[in-house]
Amino acid sequence: MKVLKFGGTSVGTASRIKEVAALVAERGKNIVVLSAMSGTTNTLVEISDYLYKKNVDGAKEIVNSLENKYRSVINELYDKEESREAAFKEIKAIFNYIRSLSKDMFTLFEEREILAQGELISTTLMNIYFHEQGVDSVLLPALDFMRTDKNSEPDTAYIRTRLTALLEKHSDAAVYLTQGYICRNAYGEVDNLQRGGSDYTASLIGAAIGADEIEIWTDIDGMHNNDPRYVENTSPVCELHFEEAAELAYFGAKILHPTCVLPAKLNNIPVRLLNTMQPEAHGTLIYNCPSSHSIKAVAAKDNITAIKIKSGRMLLAYGFLRKVFEIFETYQTSIDMITTSEVGVSVSIDNERNLHRILDDLKKFGTVTVDHDMAIICVVGDLEWHNCGFETRVLNALGDIPVRMISYGGSNYNISILVRQCDKIAAMNALQKALFV
Ligand code: ASP
Ligand code: MG
Repeated sequence: MKVLKFGGTSVGTASRIKEVAALVAERGKNIVVLSAMSGTTNTLVEISDYLYKKNVDGAKEIVNSLENKYRSVINELYDKEESREAAFKEIKAIFNYIRSLSKDMFTLFEEREILAQGELISTTLMNIYFHEQGVDSVLLPALDFMRTDKNSEPDTAYIRTRLTALLEKHSDAAVYLTQGYICRNAYGEVDNLQRGGSDYTASLIGAAIGADEIEIWTDIDGMHNNDPRYVENTSPVCELHFEEAAELAYFGAKILHPTCVLPAKLNNIPVRLLNTMQPEAHGTLIYNCPSSHSIKAVAAKDNITAIKIKSGRMLLAYGFLRKVFEIFETYQTSIDMITTSEVGVSVSIDNERNLHRILDDLKKFGTVTVDHDMAIICVVGDLEWHNCGFETRVLNALGDIPVRMISYGGSNYNISILVRQCDKIAAMNALQKALFV
């Protein structure tokens, strides 16, 4: 059995839902994970925003227009009047529930309930559509098996036990359907796996059942070797190692959520990125692939701040780095890149929320310099250190671009370069030319 996950754009309109249903039905008995229709989760966030600001009328207006949108989806999606009626009834109940939560007293608890409704709607509509088409799908409520523990980490033992029991109970289903993104927390409350979390759901389910493969269906033909928004003539990468995919997902390749890779990697389950618009295209296969001795892709991450701490006291001193890192820990700011010299250390962060306090504390240990609006360019591939020459190719390509930090050796799969954000596109294009053309 496989897990097939479809993102918001893949189920973004009535006709897209029909296409996905046909694609799923052809592939036999699998577990299908759906996101909310595109735009819905953002709208639910907006509704919550109004409610936090105690503008209940503002919220209700958006609730009504979202409900109208779904009414037209229903009108378009179904052929039979009875399917339409069933869908209207379900949607009405969901929107009435959202309205019942739309009150002055609005907390995180109500917000999470509201955010969960997008996936509940998309799976309900799809399930009714399957039945109309004569496909015996069974909807497995994610809230009955997907759970996080007290550290907000997935409770994998619980997920496995509950999901296995549900699958056994419905063993004669033609296809299983469930919600991405939503879960319960350790206290049994409705919660979620963070924005974009449907990929994570798919991966956790894949791991729980030991799936043959986890397929992530989107609207692009796999992970590209560079960012198509900034670079022309990029092409999909056929194969990636789990570690390469993890680096790329983190450094801005929007197609796959970074959290998705770990459960698949730990359980050695291949992940395939596929395109709903071109179902026969190869896409990208992520697995424990053999060494390729090649550079595979370039990605970039914006809004990076570089901080340099220089201190005579660092020379031959132990404990200096610990003191520096403790400051970042105190202000709950994670560090992306690190480079060191004997008298100083540079780090990069992607979140300036506590920057002032961090800088105040760092100044106790040395001279501090800050560079804002930087970008990390990340080159990914099989870059094991005995392979000669790839560093030269990367740095030669960037010959005309000022480079603030270079980091290599943290893993066998990545070399990171920090440049000014205004040089990012030039850097990505120069790398494309030097590495892939
Ligand atoms: N619907 C959620 C979001 O938009 C989860 C997902 O699509 O992965 O963030
Ligand atoms: Mg997504």
